[in-house]
Amino acid sequence: MKEKIVLHDKTFVPFISNEEIEKAIDELAARMNAEFKGCEDVPVLLCVLNGAILFTAELMKRLDFPVELMSMKLSSYTGTHTSGEVKTVMGLTGNVKDRMVIIVEDIVDTGNTIVKIKEILKDAGAKDSKVCTLLLKPEVYKQEYRLDYVGKSIPNAFIVGFGLDYDELGRNLPDIYVLGQ
Ligand code: 5GP
Repeated sequence: MKEKIVLHDKTFVPFISNEEIEKAIDELAARMNAEFKGCEDVPVLLCVLNGAILFTAELMKRLDFPVELMSMKLSSYTGTHTSGEVKTVMGLTGNVKDRMVIIVEDIVDTGNTIVKIKEILKDAGAKDSKVCTLLLKPEVYKQEYRLDYVGKSIPNAFIVGFGLDYDELGRNLPDIYVLGQ
């Protein structure tokens, strides 16, 4: 891991190594493989763009039950803060009617995005949905929805890397960095 990373006007320092991320994904995949083993319906893996791209890819290749991949793009963050309003930038790429959907998120913060996706899936006629997030900020998340699969809980700080950006930069970093003081 680099000692520090500079993106735009801000400096970020090491936070979670790629090794640790991969270990968390191994554990999530093992749980999902046990729970979906022999399931009759093929679940939809719904990648929430852009942040969850790397996580979805790493998770998907570890799953040993049949899955179908769909995606959608939502946005709420500007710079290092949430705007509170979740915009649909690109809708669902497939038909989820009567399907079980596993929502794949990079990070759950306020949970506004999850609430919005659950609404969209309900309106589209999905049978059921589960949430799988690599990271969670439990101090901030106060929604009623159960988060079915959580890779790691982190404090309320702004992070980048492994798909997560600061104004579109930093997504390609294999490790995760946190905003420095
Ligand atoms: P929520 O709707 O739960 O507040 O926020 C979810 C989305 O906000 C995430 O999918 C992610 O795109 C963005 N987000 C939340 N926390 C962070 C963070 O610490 N760093 C980055 N880069 N994005 C975040």
